[in-house]
Amino acid sequence: MDRIYLSPPHLGRHELNYLHKAVEDNWVAPAGPNLTGFEADLCAFTGVGHAVALHSGTAAIHLGLRLLGVGPGDEVLCPSFTFVATANPISYCGATPVFVDSEADTWNMCPVRLREAITDRLRLGKKLKALLLVHLYGMPAKLDELLAIAQEFGLPVLEDAAEALGSRYQGRPLGSFGEVSVVSFNGNKILTTSGGGALLTNRADYAAKALFWATQAKDAAPHYQHSEVGYNYRLSNLLAGIGRGQMELLEDRVKRRREIFAWYKENLGGLPGLAVAPATELPGSRANRWLTTVLLNPAEPKDGASQTSATPESLRQHLEARNIESRPLWKPLHQQPLFAEVPMYGGAVCEDLFARGLCLPSGTAMTDEDQQRVAKALREGLAA
Ligand SMILES: *Cc1c(COP(=O)(O)O)cnc(C)c1O
Repeated sequence: MDRIYLSPPHLGRHELNYLHKAVEDNWVAPAGPNLTGFEADLCAFTGVGHAVALHSGTAAIHLGLRLLGVGPGDEVLCPSFTFVATANPISYCGATPVFVDSEADTWNMCPVRLREAITDRLRLGKKLKALLLVHLYGMPAKLDELLAIAQEFGLPVLEDAAEALGSRYQGRPLGSFGEVSVVSFNGNKILTTSGGGALLTNRADYAAKALFWATQAKDAAPHYQHSEVGYNYRLSNLLAGIGRGQMELLEDRVKRRREIFAWYKENLGGLPGLAVAPATELPGSRANRWLTTVLLNPAEPKDGASQTSATPESLRQHLEARNIESRPLWKPLHQQPLFAEVPMYGGAVCEDLFARGLCLPSGTAMTDEDQQRVAKALREGLAA
Protein backbone atom coordinates (compact mmCIF):
# COMPACT_ATOMS: atom_id res chain seq x y z
CA MET A 1 0.00 0.00 0.00
CA ASP A 2 1.21 3.50 -0.80
CA ARG A 3 2.36 5.55 2.12
CA ILE A 4 -0.04 8.21 3.35
CA TYR A 5 2.00 11.15 4.60
CA LEU A 6 1.02 13.64 7.25
CA SER A 7 1.17 16.76 5.09
CA PRO A 8 3.18 16.36 1.88
CA PRO A 9 3.74 19.10 -0.71
CA HIS A 10 0.89 19.60 -3.16
CA LEU A 11 1.89 21.44 -6.30
CA GLY A 12 -0.39 22.91 -8.93
CA ARG A 13 0.14 23.58 -12.61
CA HIS A 14 1.80 26.99 -12.58
CA GLU A 15 4.83 26.53 -10.33
CA LEU A 16 6.85 25.03 -13.19
CA ASN A 17 6.04 27.98 -15.47
CA TYR A 18 7.46 30.45 -12.97
CA LEU A 19 10.53 28.26 -12.45
CA HIS A 20 11.01 27.83 -16.18
CA LYS A 21 10.84 31.55 -16.81
CA ALA A 22 13.39 32.23 -14.05
CA VAL A 23 15.84 29.77 -15.58
CA GLU A 24 15.21 31.07 -19.09
CA ASP A 25 15.79 34.68 -18.01
CA ASN A 26 18.80 33.67 -15.89
CA TRP A 27 17.29 34.94 -12.66
CA VAL A 28 18.92 32.04 -10.80
CA ALA A 29 19.82 34.13 -7.78
CA PRO A 30 18.50 35.42 -4.47
CA ALA A 31 17.09 38.37 -6.46
CA GLY A 32 14.64 38.68 -9.34
CA PRO A 33 11.06 39.17 -10.46
CA ASN A 34 9.65 36.06 -8.76
CA LEU A 35 10.73 37.49 -5.41
CA THR A 36 8.96 40.78 -6.00
CA GLY A 37 5.95 38.93 -7.41
CA PHE A 38 5.77 36.51 -4.49
CA GLU A 39 6.04 39.36 -1.99
CA ALA A 40 3.28 41.27 -3.79
CA ASP A 41 1.07 38.14 -3.64
CA LEU A 42 1.66 37.86 0.10
CA CYS A 43 0.81 41.52 0.66
CA ALA A 44 -2.33 41.22 -1.47
CA PHE A 45 -3.52 38.17 0.42
CA THR A 46 -2.83 39.35 3.96
CA GLY A 47 -3.46 43.06 3.43
CA VAL A 48 -0.10 43.82 5.04
CA GLY A 49 1.97 46.62 3.51
CA HIS A 50 5.36 44.92 3.14
CA ALA A 51 6.67 41.37 2.77
CA VAL A 52 10.26 40.15 2.75
CA ALA A 53 10.72 36.60 1.40
CA LEU A 54 13.36 34.63 3.31
CA HIS A 55 14.75 31.13 3.23
CA SER A 56 12.75 29.99 6.26
CA GLY A 57 10.13 31.00 8.76
CA THR A 58 12.77 30.57 11.44
CA ALA A 59 14.94 33.20 9.77
CA ALA A 60 11.90 35.51 9.61
CA ILE A 61 11.30 35.10 13.35
CA HIS A 62 14.97 35.85 14.01
CA LEU A 63 14.88 39.08 12.00
CA GLY A 64 11.51 39.97 13.52
CA LEU A 65 12.91 39.70 17.03
CA ARG A 66 15.86 41.87 16.07
CA LEU A 67 13.49 44.47 14.62
CA LEU A 68 11.67 44.54 17.95
CA GLY A 69 15.01 45.23 19.64
CA VAL A 70 15.36 41.86 21.38
CA GLY A 71 18.92 41.35 22.58
CA PRO A 72 21.06 39.76 25.30
CA GLY A 73 19.46 39.78 28.74
CA ASP A 74 15.93 40.36 27.41
CA GLU A 75 12.97 38.05 27.91
CA VAL A 76 10.36 37.13 25.29
CA LEU A 77 6.97 35.67 26.22
CA CYS A 78 6.19 32.63 24.13
CA PRO A 79 3.76 29.70 24.24
CA SER A 80 5.24 26.42 25.45
CA PHE A 81 2.95 24.45 23.15
CA THR A 82 4.61 25.05 19.78
CA PHE A 83 7.33 23.84 17.44
CA VAL A 84 10.88 24.58 18.60
CA ALA A 85 11.38 26.94 15.63
CA THR A 86 9.19 29.50 17.42
CA ALA A 87 11.61 29.77 20.34
CA ASN A 88 15.05 28.99 18.88
CA PRO A 89 15.45 32.50 17.42
CA ILE A 90 14.96 33.96 20.92
CA SER A 91 18.14 32.10 21.85
CA TYR A 92 19.90 33.33 18.68
CA CYS A 93 19.35 36.86 20.03
CA GLY A 94 20.93 35.99 23.36
CA ALA A 95 17.54 36.48 25.01
CA THR A 96 15.52 34.04 27.13
CA PRO A 97 12.04 32.71 26.42
CA VAL A 98 9.42 32.80 29.15
CA PHE A 99 6.93 30.05 28.47
CA VAL A 100 3.19 30.40 28.98
CA ASP A 101 0.62 27.58 29.05
CA SER A 102 -2.23 27.11 26.55
CA GLU A 103 -5.95 27.48 27.14
CA ALA A 104 -8.27 24.59 26.36
CA ASP A 105 -10.43 26.31 23.72
CA THR A 106 -7.94 27.09 20.95
CA TRP A 107 -4.85 25.39 22.47
CA ASN A 108 -2.99 28.68 22.03
CA MET A 109 -1.52 31.01 24.64
CA CYS A 110 -3.79 31.50 27.66
CA PRO A 111 -4.51 35.19 28.34
CA VAL A 112 -4.93 34.55 32.07
CA ARG A 113 -1.55 32.84 32.31
CA LEU A 114 0.00 35.56 30.15
CA ARG A 115 -1.05 38.29 32.58
CA GLU A 116 0.22 36.19 35.47
CA ALA A 117 3.57 35.73 33.71
CA ILE A 118 3.98 39.41 32.87
CA THR A 119 3.11 40.53 36.39
CA ASP A 120 5.55 38.07 37.89
CA ARG A 121 8.44 38.87 35.52
CA LEU A 122 8.01 42.60 36.16
CA ARG A 123 7.90 41.97 39.91
CA LEU A 124 11.23 40.13 39.54
CA GLY A 125 12.66 43.12 37.67
CA LYS A 126 13.09 41.25 34.36
CA LYS A 127 13.39 42.99 30.98
CA LEU A 128 10.35 41.84 29.01
CA LYS A 129 10.87 42.88 25.40
CA ALA A 130 8.19 41.25 23.26
CA LEU A 131 5.24 38.87 23.05
CA LEU A 132 5.54 36.04 20.53
CA LEU A 133 2.13 34.60 19.60
CA VAL A 134 1.45 31.37 17.69
CA HIS A 135 -1.67 30.01 15.98
CA LEU A 136 -1.06 26.31 16.41
CA TYR A 137 -2.26 23.92 13.72
CA GLY A 138 -3.73 26.98 12.00
CA MET A 139 -6.19 27.70 14.83
CA PRO A 140 -6.55 31.45 15.52
CA ALA A 141 -5.50 32.40 19.04
CA LYS A 142 -7.62 34.59 21.36
CA LEU A 143 -6.24 37.72 19.75
CA ASP A 144 -8.60 40.27 21.32
CA GLU A 145 -7.54 39.33 24.83
CA LEU A 146 -3.87 38.72 24.03
CA LEU A 147 -3.37 41.93 22.03
CA ALA A 148 -5.14 43.98 24.72
CA ILE A 149 -2.72 42.66 27.34
CA ALA A 150 0.27 43.36 25.07
CA GLN A 151 -0.96 46.92 24.62
CA GLU A 152 -1.59 47.41 28.32
CA PHE A 153 2.03 46.53 29.09
CA GLY A 154 3.52 48.19 26.01
CA LEU A 155 4.84 44.93 24.57
CA PRO A 156 5.29 44.69 20.79
CA VAL A 157 3.84 41.52 19.24
CA LEU A 158 5.58 39.13 16.89
CA GLU A 159 2.98 36.86 15.29
CA ASP A 160 4.17 33.39 14.32
CA ALA A 161 1.59 32.45 11.68
CA ALA A 162 3.85 29.72 10.22
CA GLU A 163 1.04 27.16 10.43
CA ALA A 164 -1.79 29.59 9.86
CA LEU A 165 -1.56 31.04 6.36
CA GLY A 166 -5.14 31.25 5.09
CA SER A 167 -6.73 31.33 8.57
CA ARG A 168 -8.78 34.36 9.58
CA TYR A 169 -9.73 36.16 12.76
CA GLN A 170 -12.84 38.31 12.56
CA GLY A 171 -12.50 38.24 8.82
CA ARG A 172 -8.90 39.42 8.78
CA PRO A 173 -6.09 37.11 7.62
CA LEU A 174 -3.68 35.82 10.23
CA GLY A 175 -0.21 37.12 9.53
CA SER A 176 -1.55 40.67 9.73
CA PHE A 177 -1.84 41.05 13.51
CA GLY A 178 1.76 41.56 14.67
CA GLU A 179 4.09 44.57 14.49
CA VAL A 180 5.92 41.86 12.64
CA SER A 181 4.31 38.62 11.46
CA VAL A 182 5.86 35.51 10.03
CA VAL A 183 4.67 32.79 7.65
CA SER A 184 6.45 29.60 6.56
CA PHE A 185 6.64 27.70 3.30
CA ASN A 186 8.41 24.62 4.63
CA GLY A 187 7.72 21.30 2.90
CA ASN A 188 4.89 20.28 5.21
CA LYS A 189 3.01 23.58 5.49
CA ILE A 190 -0.27 24.39 3.72
CA LEU A 191 1.75 25.96 0.87
CA THR A 192 5.38 25.16 0.23
CA THR A 193 8.46 26.39 -1.61
CA SER A 194 10.37 23.31 -0.31
CA GLY A 195 11.81 25.63 2.31
CA GLY A 196 10.95 29.27 2.72
CA GLY A 197 9.34 31.93 4.82
CA ALA A 198 8.40 35.56 4.88
CA LEU A 199 8.38 38.49 7.24
CA LEU A 200 5.29 40.70 7.04
CA THR A 201 4.98 44.20 8.44
CA ASN A 202 3.18 47.47 7.81
CA ARG A 203 6.31 49.45 8.64
CA ALA A 204 8.41 50.32 5.60
CA ASP A 205 11.48 50.96 7.80
CA TYR A 206 11.18 47.45 9.33
CA ALA A 207 10.88 45.81 5.91
CA ALA A 208 13.91 47.72 4.58
CA LYS A 209 15.96 46.80 7.64
CA ALA A 210 14.97 43.12 7.41
CA LEU A 211 16.02 43.01 3.75
CA PHE A 212 19.29 44.73 4.65
CA TRP A 213 20.11 42.22 7.39
CA ALA A 214 18.96 39.27 5.24
CA THR A 215 21.46 40.18 2.52
CA GLN A 216 24.63 40.49 4.67
CA ALA A 217 24.00 44.06 5.87
CA LYS A 218 25.92 45.81 3.11
CA ASP A 219 26.28 49.53 3.70
CA ALA A 220 25.87 51.92 0.75
CA ALA A 221 29.36 51.92 -0.78
CA PRO A 222 30.95 50.72 -4.03
CA HIS A 223 33.11 48.24 -2.09
CA TYR A 224 31.88 45.79 0.54
CA GLN A 225 31.37 47.89 3.64
CA HIS A 226 29.72 46.59 6.82
CA SER A 227 28.86 48.18 10.12
CA GLU A 228 26.32 45.64 11.46
CA VAL A 229 26.03 41.86 11.71
CA GLY A 230 24.09 40.49 8.75
CA TYR A 231 22.82 37.14 7.52
CA ASN A 232 22.39 35.23 4.30
CA TYR A 233 18.64 34.72 4.69
CA ARG A 234 17.18 35.79 1.33
CA LEU A 235 14.95 33.33 -0.53
CA SER A 236 16.06 32.15 -3.97
CA ASN A 237 14.21 33.61 -6.95
CA LEU A 238 13.62 29.99 -8.10
CA LEU A 239 11.83 29.06 -4.89
CA ALA A 240 9.89 32.32 -4.96
CA GLY A 241 8.62 31.14 -8.36
CA ILE A 242 7.23 28.00 -6.72
CA GLY A 243 5.73 30.30 -4.11
CA ARG A 244 3.92 32.37 -6.73
CA GLY A 245 2.35 29.23 -8.21
CA GLN A 246 1.38 28.06 -4.72
CA MET A 247 -0.18 31.39 -3.71
CA GLU A 248 -2.67 31.06 -6.58
CA LEU A 249 -3.97 27.94 -4.83
CA LEU A 250 -4.24 29.16 -1.26
CA GLU A 251 -8.03 29.52 -0.98
CA ASP A 252 -8.51 26.11 -2.63
CA ARG A 253 -6.06 24.52 -0.27
CA VAL A 254 -7.79 25.96 2.79
CA LYS A 255 -11.13 24.74 1.48
CA ARG A 256 -9.74 21.24 0.98
CA ARG A 257 -8.07 21.08 4.43
CA ARG A 258 -11.38 22.09 5.95
CA GLU A 259 -13.19 19.36 3.98
CA ILE A 260 -10.69 16.79 5.18
CA PHE A 261 -11.26 17.95 8.75
CA ALA A 262 -15.06 17.83 8.32
CA TRP A 263 -14.85 14.31 6.90
CA TYR A 264 -12.82 13.05 9.85
CA LYS A 265 -15.17 14.79 12.24
CA GLU A 266 -18.18 13.12 10.69
CA ASN A 267 -16.67 9.69 10.14
CA LEU A 268 -14.74 9.30 13.37
CA GLY A 269 -17.43 10.78 15.61
CA GLY A 270 -18.62 8.45 18.34
CA LEU A 271 -15.56 6.20 18.33
CA PRO A 272 -14.86 5.08 21.89
CA GLY A 273 -12.59 7.48 23.72
CA LEU A 274 -11.70 9.58 20.69
CA ALA A 275 -12.52 13.22 19.95
CA VAL A 276 -11.71 14.82 16.59
CA ALA A 277 -10.10 18.26 16.72
CA PRO A 278 -11.38 19.37 20.09
CA ALA A 279 -9.77 22.79 19.64
CA THR A 280 -12.48 25.24 18.66
CA GLU A 281 -12.77 28.12 16.23
CA LEU A 282 -13.73 31.27 18.08
CA PRO A 283 -16.87 32.98 16.80
CA GLY A 284 -15.98 34.84 13.61
CA SER A 285 -12.69 33.02 13.14
CA ARG A 286 -11.74 30.52 10.46
CA ALA A 287 -8.97 27.95 10.92
CA ASN A 288 -7.12 26.69 7.87
CA ARG A 289 -7.19 23.22 9.50
CA TRP A 290 -3.56 22.68 8.54
CA LEU A 291 -3.55 19.42 10.50
CA THR A 292 -6.57 17.57 11.86
CA THR A 293 -5.86 16.44 15.40
CA VAL A 294 -7.54 13.96 17.71
CA LEU A 295 -7.51 13.61 21.49
CA LEU A 296 -7.95 10.34 23.35
CA ASN A 297 -10.19 10.09 26.38
CA PRO A 298 -11.41 13.67 26.43
CA ALA A 299 -12.37 14.92 29.87
CA GLU A 300 -16.03 15.32 28.88
CA PRO A 301 -16.82 12.44 26.53
CA LYS A 302 -19.56 13.39 24.10
CA ASP A 303 -22.29 11.12 22.73
CA GLY A 304 -21.81 8.79 25.68
CA ALA A 305 -18.49 7.66 24.20
CA SER A 306 -16.60 5.35 26.50
CA GLN A 307 -12.91 5.40 27.33
CA THR A 308 -10.16 3.63 25.40
CA SER A 309 -7.00 1.99 26.64
CA ALA A 310 -5.22 2.96 23.39
CA THR A 311 -2.55 5.66 23.68
CA PRO A 312 -1.39 8.16 21.04
CA GLU A 313 1.76 6.08 20.69
CA SER A 314 -0.08 2.76 20.30
CA LEU A 315 -2.31 4.38 17.67
CA ARG A 316 0.67 5.93 15.90
CA GLN A 317 2.38 2.53 15.71
CA HIS A 318 -0.83 0.92 14.52
CA LEU A 319 -1.09 3.46 11.69
CA GLU A 320 2.62 3.16 10.91
CA ALA A 321 2.27 -0.62 10.48
CA ARG A 322 -0.31 0.21 7.79
CA ASN A 323 2.07 2.66 6.12
CA ILE A 324 0.22 5.72 7.42
CA GLU A 325 2.17 8.59 8.93
CA SER A 326 0.78 10.30 12.03
CA ARG A 327 2.52 12.38 14.66
CA PRO A 328 2.17 13.27 18.34
CA LEU A 329 1.15 16.84 19.08
CA TRP A 330 4.05 19.23 19.66
CA LYS A 331 5.91 18.32 22.82
CA PRO A 332 5.72 21.39 25.07
CA LEU A 333 8.95 23.36 25.01
CA HIS A 334 9.16 23.59 28.80
CA GLN A 335 9.47 19.78 28.78
CA GLN A 336 12.41 19.86 26.35
CA PRO A 337 15.93 19.33 27.74
CA LEU A 338 17.01 22.36 25.67
CA PHE A 339 14.79 24.65 27.76
CA ALA A 340 15.08 22.92 31.14
CA GLU A 341 16.10 26.17 32.86
CA VAL A 342 13.45 28.39 31.25
CA PRO A 343 10.62 29.84 33.40
CA MET A 344 7.16 28.40 32.76
CA TYR A 345 3.76 29.74 33.80
CA GLY A 346 1.17 27.00 34.20
CA GLY A 347 1.71 23.87 32.12
CA ALA A 348 -1.10 21.45 32.96
CA VAL A 349 -3.11 22.25 29.82
CA CYS A 350 -0.40 21.70 27.22
CA GLU A 351 1.10 18.73 29.07
CA ASP A 352 -2.29 17.07 28.98
CA LEU A 353 -2.77 17.82 25.27
CA PHE A 354 0.64 16.34 24.47
CA ALA A 355 -0.14 13.22 26.51
CA ARG A 356 -3.44 12.55 24.73
CA GLY A 357 -3.16 13.96 21.21
CA LEU A 358 -2.26 12.81 17.71
CA CYS A 359 -2.08 14.58 14.31
CA LEU A 360 -3.71 12.76 11.41
CA PRO A 361 -2.74 12.82 7.72
CA SER A 362 -4.26 16.04 6.38
CA GLY A 363 -2.54 16.70 3.05
CA THR A 364 -4.74 18.37 0.45
CA ALA A 365 -3.87 15.77 -2.20
CA MET A 366 -5.22 12.87 -0.16
CA THR A 367 -8.15 11.00 -1.65
CA ASP A 368 -11.38 9.79 -0.05
CA GLU A 369 -9.92 6.28 -0.17
CA ASP A 370 -6.87 7.51 1.75
CA GLN A 371 -9.14 8.96 4.41
CA GLN A 372 -11.12 5.70 4.58
CA ARG A 373 -7.85 3.85 5.13
CA VAL A 374 -6.87 6.19 7.97
CA ALA A 375 -10.31 5.88 9.58
CA LYS A 376 -10.26 2.09 9.33
CA ALA A 377 -6.79 1.89 10.85
CA LEU A 378 -7.86 4.19 13.68
CA ARG A 379 -10.95 2.09 14.42
CA GLU A 380 -8.82 -1.04 14.52
CA GLY A 381 -6.20 0.66 16.64
CA LEU A 382 -8.81 1.76 19.16
CA ALA A 383 -10.29 -1.74 19.35
CA ALA A 384 -6.90 -3.48 19.66
C1 LIG B 1 7.18 25.53 10.63
C2 LIG B 1 7.13 26.42 11.80
C3 LIG B 1 8.07 27.45 12.00
C4 LIG B 1 9.33 27.62 11.20
O1 LIG B 1 9.21 27.64 9.89
P1 LIG B 1 10.42 27.12 8.93
O2 LIG B 1 10.04 27.73 7.63
O3 LIG B 1 10.33 25.62 8.96
O4 LIG B 1 11.70 27.62 9.48
C5 LIG B 1 7.90 28.31 13.07
N1 LIG B 1 6.87 28.17 13.91
C6 LIG B 1 5.96 27.20 13.78
C7 LIG B 1 4.83 27.15 14.75
C8 LIG B 1 6.06 26.28 12.73
O5 LIG B 1 5.18 25.29 12.63
